[in-house]
Amino acid sequence: MTVFRLNELTTRQVDALDRDATVLLVPLGSVEQHGWHMPLGTDTILADAVSVASCERACAGAFVLPAPWFGYSPHHMGFAGTVTLRAETFMSLVTDVVGSLVAHGFRRIVLVNGHGGNAALVGVLSSTLGHAHRGRARIAGLTYFQLAANEIARLRKSAPGGMGHAGEFETAMMQHLRPELVGDEAETVYPETGSRHLSTDLLAGNRVSTFLDFADLSASGTLGDPSLADPQAGAAYFAACADALAGFIDEFITWPVNGEQLE
Ligand SMILES: [Zn+2]
Repeated sequence: MTVFRLNELTTRQVDALDRDATVLLVPLGSVEQHGWHMPLGTDTILADAVSVASCERACAGAFVLPAPWFGYSPHHMGFAGTVTLRAETFMSLVTDVVGSLVAHGFRRIVLVNGHGGNAALVGVLSSTLGHAHRGRARIAGLTYFQLAANEIARLRKSAPGGMGHAGEFETAMMQHLRPELVGDEAETVYPETGSRHLSTDLLAGNRVSTFLDFADLSASGTLGDPSLADPQAGAAYFAACADALAGFIDEFITWPVNGEQLE
């Protein structure tokens, strides 16, 4: 069986990897409430699973780092069990992980985010780390469900707002991957943000940023419609996300790292 998890290799096996022909993925998620029906670790579980599946599908050599469980989740602190890092802690953590990999000569590193609350920080990290390691390594950051947004939009059943947090998409993904962790107390909530400029839908692509405390939007913490989720749809979403990330890995392996421009 092929191993795709870097932490399951020995140091000698890692040392034997071709630095220029290997992509390393760093999954990023969160420990935060996911409604009444799903576990706190949902985002990290999904980002890790999509990352491993994309390594299996990619033609290029790719390996997955162990995901740090915690992310940036102050907007979920109204719910028991949520653990948030401060933004600067999250930035420092990812900076140190990537710095270690670059120190060992790895040149192609992808931050694979699975939590909306991390997305802005992942964007900043792609830029600051890309600048810090310019000429030695190329750093890319993405949110895996945004990478597969077109396929997800084709597969979805819910109206806008139905795929927010612990809604149709995440629930279906977990029903496919970890059905034993999905309960049946799901609540459906199409939240009112009070502005047409602010949607809580995963695929909304808001043009305005502001802090929204999820406790103000939903009693259960769910934003969206988990009742429309089913494991078959979850399998299709999962395949779409893994394929999209594998496609990116196979392109990323061709990107120059020595300061030349992309063509
Ligand atoms: Zn989530």
